[in-house]
Amino acid sequence: MSVGVVRESAAGERRVALVPKVVGTLVGKGVPVIVESGAGLEALIPDEQYVDAGATIGDPYSADVVVRVAPPSDAEIGKLRSGQKLIGFLAPRNADNQIDALKSAGVEAYAVEAIPRISRAQVMDALSSQANVAGYKAVISAADLSTRFFPMLTTAAGTVKPATVLVLGVGVAGLQALATAKRLGGRTTGYDVRPEVAEQVRSVGAQWLDLGIDAAGEGGYARELTDDERAKQQQALEDAIKSFDVVITTALVPGRPAPRLVTAAAVEGMKAGSVVVDLAGETGGNCELTEPGQTVVKHDVTITSPLNLPATMPEHASELYSKNLLALIELMLDDNGAITPDFEDEVVAASCVTRSDEEVSA
Ligand code: NAD
Repeated sequence: MSVGVVRESAAGERRVALVPKVVGTLVGKGVPVIVESGAGLEALIPDEQYVDAGATIGDPYSADVVVRVAPPSDAEIGKLRSGQKLIGFLAPRNADNQIDALKSAGVEAYAVEAIPRISRAQVMDALSSQANVAGYKAVISAADLSTRFFPMLTTAAGTVKPATVLVLGVGVAGLQALATAKRLGGRTTGYDVRPEVAEQVRSVGAQWLDLGIDAAGEGGYARELTDDERAKQQQALEDAIKSFDVVITTALVPGRPAPRLVTAAAVEGMKAGSVVVDLAGETGGNCELTEPGQTVVKHDVTITSPLNLPATMPEHASELYSKNLLALIELMLDDNGAITPDFEDEVVAASCVTRSDEEVSA
């Protein structure tokens, strides 16, 4: 059984699926690893480091298991063969065509997004590892774009008040954003529609904004709000947002467009020089004035919506992602170094989105 590491082709994607340390671990377990030349270059990892770790440089598509970060292009799907295994972010909820193409090609595909959010699978949870990177980088971007300091400064030339930071949607990315903003000296507040999040928000030194809406859904995710709830939420947030220098939004509902939390009127009410960082751009954005992938200035407020923040920190993002993939591969590896997935295992069953003979889920 061999593993192939591809060179990512998506625009702006700088991560690599396996770093040399993890390659060394797999080789040590008797699993040969074939790395496409230049696979790690964007993460500043030259081919030689992979060779030193025991990999060979060659055609990753000749391997039994192909690992990658971003979903494959049509051309890359064309290089896969029936019975071959593929592991990576495959956007199973959004990329129906690609999933159909993988199924027609007879590929056994595992989407890391579909790994259940259960304690046993935390080590494989690539959504979480990458959301941590995004939450951190969102704050750094906000600080960069802000016309004001984050920390309180007492200087001979006067005292500067700390920045007030509001995080809307406190899942993994939001919690990391609150923690990072706090470390930078900001005065932080968190808001979510799942009431159980209040305790987590307080645990990272932030205040909890309570708007009295409970929209906890299934599996720890939020449900979509009703029209009445949405109107109430938007109005309440419009009032609250005025007093914040920085608003970071990360609110998502699985399989649905991003909820609109920040209206144009809310942006208009913010002080000039304030910043909105919208991490929900890929599904339309949490802010009405967001232009996904762009940084715009509206009503003297800077609104930025980066689309793939983890790719901007390729070294640590790849390191964490590699460890997620290693754990998933180890779950399927038998004592003879062969991949023998146990479809009775809920992690294997949930993450497998196509099989050679049938579509398992999507
Ligand atoms: P996510 O990215 O799907 O959503 C981000 C946040 O947006 C969520 O907290 C959600 O409640 C919130 N949200 C949605 N609609 C909203 C609205 N209208 N207004 C305000 N907030 C809104 O979330 P995630 O980071 O992927 O986390 C999802 C769940 O998985 C959480 O319960 C998290 O604790 C859980 N989780 C569990 C594990 C584990 O045990 N293995 C690991 C990671 C996450």
